Amino acid sequence: MKLTITGFSTALFSTWYFIEELSLLFDCGDGASSGLLQKSHKVKYIFVSHADRDHLTGLLQFNQLNARPGFPKIYYPRDSGSFHFLEEFTTHFDPHVSGTEWIKMEEGDMIEIKKNIFVQPFRNKHVPVRKELVKSLSFHVFETKRKLKDEYLHLSGKEIAALRNELGKENITIELRENILSYSGDTPIENDGRWDETKVLIHEATFLRKGDIDLDDYRKGKHSYLEEVIEMVSKTKVEKLILGHFSSRYSAEEIDEAIDFFCKKFELKIPVFRVLPGETVRDILRN
Ligand SMILES: [Zn+2]
Repeated sequence: MKLTITGFSTALFSTWYFIEELSLLFDCGDGASSGLLQKSHKVKYIFVSHADRDHLTGLLQFNQLNARPGFPKIYYPRDSGSFHFLEEFTTHFDPHVSGTEWIKMEEGDMIEIKKNIFVQPFRNKHVPVRKELVKSLSFHVFETKRKLKDEYLHLSGKEIAALRNELGKENITIELRENILSYSGDTPIENDGRWDETKVLIHEATFLRKGDIDLDDYRKGKHSYLEEVIEMVSKTKVEKLILGHFSSRYSAEEIDEAIDFFCKKFELKIPVFRVLPGETVRDILRN
């Protein structure tokens, strides 16, 4: 499936990614509506990865421009306290606006956003909490297809149709899942194979190198370093990589040089795209 992805992602300031074919917005930082203009009406589903302000402050404007019966559906981590206040506030601040649904999500949910397309949230370690709490999530997007079971492959079209009437489609086919897109949200690096077999991975890379922040910095262990991301992806089956959430301390040249350097170092051969600080990038995968 072709994916037209437009996004803005700068650490501390704002992050949002719009996937046009899926009417899907991952995170809704400041400027999501002004970045998308009329296209913001196309969004039906918003998945907010966690409650840090750079990932949600665009919701107020987005909601008052685009709310209609049943949409947008705003999904947020089950145990994040902030969303309830935001929902209550918008209800009073924009009483003429209605239709928005605020929905809690948790690890393992399979949320259908289109026929045969599902979003599955799963936890990451950006917000350190006890394991029964859900406050920070990453996402897979799956496309499912049904394939005829091997034992029926030799049958004719007519015979298969008869069998389907007799046994039901579910019983003569198996479900195939393709991971068409994954989004890390904010997260430290994870080397547990969670991104394996994804066609397009959007991953954060807040810092370039491990030495770039002090040991006692509160952000230590909450975000990823470009160096680690490239190393991890080089050992993983990913077809295309989109990097974002860079710290605005880096210039475009520094980021591009570092991407180049680490791709060579770890022999990463897949197409790598990046969303530079302060830039809204339209149709990221086009270039
Ligand atoms: Zn962030």
